[in-house]
Amino acid sequence: MTADFAVQRARMVAEQLRARHIQDERVLTACASVPRHLFVPPEYQEWAYADTPLNIGHGQTISQPYMVAVMTEALALRGPERVLEIGAGSGYQAAILARLAAEVHTVEIIPALAEQAQRNLTQAGITNVTVHVGDGSAGWPAYAPYGGIVVAAAAPAMPDALLHQLAEGGRLVIPVGERRQQTVHVWRRLGQRFHQRALIPALFVPLRGAHGWPEDDSPL
Ligand code: SAH
Repeated sequence: MTADFAVQRARMVAEQLRARHIQDERVLTACASVPRHLFVPPEYQEWAYADTPLNIGHGQTISQPYMVAVMTEALALRGPERVLEIGAGSGYQAAILARLAAEVHTVEIIPALAEQAQRNLTQAGITNVTVHVGDGSAGWPAYAPYGGIVVAAAAPAMPDALLHQLAEGGRLVIPVGERRQQTVHVWRRLGQRFHQRALIPALFVPLRGAHGWPEDDSPL
């Protein structure tokens, strides 16, 4: 069973990531080593390495492997950084970040998912991630500045507070746009200036909280 997952994971890296031009070897190595099947509900384990997002309960999803890799690659992490993730969900993206940076903080607004993420990370043997429960839509100032920030839910607009929690040279990766269609943007801080580029179209679950979408909009 475990060997089978290892084979599926290697195939995922080759066919979904390398073949689609993920080039950062550190990112590829991280994706080849984190046991994604530990981060999906038991009933979906056989699809853990499939080319798709999966339900993780509470109306939320673990992102498609390719999306995790693209967004992680865009952070251009080198190793010593402290990184912030908004939207822990299953904890999978945090586990990938944990392999690429020194220290990861991940914020989750749904307490039951925060607990689940913590359990999954512990089971995967990852110790440099701290899971916080709360609204991360304005970032998490307590541990700022961050060498990288990744938002795993779609924002209606860029929350400025996030930019100001970036360290010099740090990057922020965030899907911004309409409720059902967004573009992932990458921002980079250079001195007091911020450079932005569009990365990839995407469909994420909505960011909630003060700078997110109201709860009463219709579900997908
Ligand atoms: N990175 C996750 C994917 C999570 S889906 C993974 O690898 O599995 C997005 C998550 O963002 C959901 O769990 C949702 O509850 C959470 N979320 C939405 N708005 C949030 C907010 N304002 N602060 C923190 N988490 C939020």
